[in-house]
Amino acid sequence: MNEPLLTRLTWFQKQFPLEPSFRWKQIQTGLFHPNFTDWHQVLTIPFSVRNKLKEEIPWLSFVIQNMFVSKEKNTYKALFSLQDGFLIESVIMKNTRKQWTVCVSSQVGCAMRCTFCATGKMGLKRNLLSDEIVDQYRFWQIYLSSHISTSERISNVVFMGMGEPLANYESVREALHDLLAFTSLGSTRITVSTVGIIPRLEQILTDPKWPAVRLAISLHSADPITRKQIIPSSYDDFFKKLITWSKKYQEKIAHRRQHLTFEYILLRGINDDEHHAKALVKLIHLITNVRVNLIPYNITDPALKKTSKQQMDFFQNYLKEHGVQVTIRKSFGDEIQAACGQLVI
Ligand code: SAH
Repeated sequence: MNEPLLTRLTWFQKQFPLEPSFRWKQIQTGLFHPNFTDWHQVLTIPFSVRNKLKEEIPWLSFVIQNMFVSKEKNTYKALFSLQDGFLIESVIMKNTRKQWTVCVSSQVGCAMRCTFCATGKMGLKRNLLSDEIVDQYRFWQIYLSSHISTSERISNVVFMGMGEPLANYESVREALHDLLAFTSLGSTRITVSTVGIIPRLEQILTDPKWPAVRLAISLHSADPITRKQIIPSSYDDFFKKLITWSKKYQEKIAHRRQHLTFEYILLRGINDDEHHAKALVKLIHLITNVRVNLIPYNITDPALKKTSKQQMDFFQNYLKEHGVQVTIRKSFGDEIQAACGQLVI
């Protein structure tokens, strides 16, 4: 049987039980340094510790297998091979303000089986370690300055790559802490996108260790039968639970900058007509302080069709006219299969 993979922290605690407590912080600071690519650059830690790290712990927990670049050079998708051979993908996209958003994977594959999502078709292989999550950010930080631009920066991280982040709760929480502690990203610059696992959403509300990052819930329909049809993992009483949860969330966590977002993929003939727009408005009015992000469907399954531009405008206008704050997501990286829901190995 294969040895289970250890996090760097667990390895360090086993290897150096007598090191002072600040040592781990020095190591982490070195790991997140934007220009470092080798343990021997971390001069704050003793030579002997560096040497041992160099022997046993690779600077990044995966190796790059392939890189795909979009025509406009505003989206890059990397394929990484993990230490046990599994593959994951990670994406970086540039917005119009020349800032970059890193889209990280949280699992190898996904167990949620959403019908429109390519990752869902692979099933779940395993959870990622927190190191494997933050290393995607660390990789892109180095890649950006060495291959793309020395002046442009990563401004956001979104957990919208492969996997369901809340199904890997502990490692995602650990990764969030590391990102907040060792990068300049503030909590409003990080978004965790979830299919809406209610027990984990409940846990967030009472977990003193869960950082106040933004949450986006993949709603995709406000009609229970339709939602269950496209998201088979959806609970039977999902909406009742979501409404109760959202109200508690608004009271406890949300303030002006920490609004909830509902993501909504528009699928032709499935969730894009007036009946569905009406159901969505009704739900939003019950919850308040929610923004809706409409997502053009990136084709992954020929049985599902994109909503036309005209219908998309209709849907958006219907929401606007009923007082809902709504945006349409610009789709990046379609031609390199790096757009939302296209990540699959
Ligand atoms: N498991 C998380 C993260 C998934 S990816 C979640 O469900 O939120 C981030 C977003 O991309 C989700 O809203 C997801 O539903 C959406 N998505 C998945 N497949 C897509 C596709 N083919 N086209 C457009 N968006 C897609």
